Amino acid sequence: MNLVFLGPPGAGKGTIASQAKKHFDIPHISTGDLFRNHIKGETTLGKQVKAILASGDLVPDTITIAMVEQRLAEADAKKGFILDGFPRTIAQAEALNSMTKLDAVVNFELDREQIIKRLSGRRVCKSTGRTYHLVFDPPKREGVDDETGEALIQRDDDKPEAIAHRLDVYLKQTEPLIAFYRNAKLLVDVDASLAPEAVLAEMVSALA
Ligand code: ADP
Ligand code: ADP
Repeated sequence: MNLVFLGPPGAGKGTIASQAKKHFDIPHISTGDLFRNHIKGETTLGKQVKAILASGDLVPDTITIAMVEQRLAEADAKKGFILDGFPRTIAQAEALNSMTKLDAVVNFELDREQIIKRLSGRRVCKSTGRTYHLVFDPPKREGVDDETGEALIQRDDDKPEAIAHRLDVYLKQTEPLIAFYRNAKLLVDVDASLAPEAVLAEMVSALA
């Protein structure tokens, strides 16, 4: 199954992908995670994109497309994949079309108020990448990761100034993909405001 998860930042794409990858036994490929790993590892690419991620702007298409093409060429992606956070522009979607054939594009629908609540309460563990929420999915012990006990952090781009900018970027550059994929008859809408188990169930039955 070759899937794309589309939707505004904070809609729960990563959360649902971490469940769906087990359900479908396919890798979860998040371009945001790939970039953050490069930044953490201080690679050349990481140095190039660090300030862009912090600001909430998009990384240039050429860089992003090359990174995804390389990732999809890895052995585990042969049996299928969940692309989370890619494509985010029409140019990326066209490039993806020439790399592979998609089975569906899942469109996570969530209103602005909920998006802001989710992003502003999101906390992450830098080393495991695990995501929590202060209210909706708190860790067992306040402020630390359930497994490693490391301190949870707030991503720079989840701070209020960056959130507003990222939502503008989403509306201008990424939202047009909804029409693009609806035209291609690939779009599956899900109500992302439900609890994670319900979002997953709705998606699985829509894909069946
Ligand atoms: P969220 O899940 O909150 O939407 P991501 O982790 O997907 O955020 O992305 C974080 C940042 O990584 C984006 O704001 C952008 O700077 C960069 N990024 C991720 N995916 C892409 C992409 N497909 N094109 C360009 N930039 C991207
Ligand atoms: P995205 O990958 O789309 O940016 P995340 O999966 O990181 O979104 O989720 C954003 C925040 O919202 C996280 O703090 C996560 O714990 C929380 N969250 C995700 N899905 C739900 C849900 N269905 N209900 C409530 N909170 C959720």
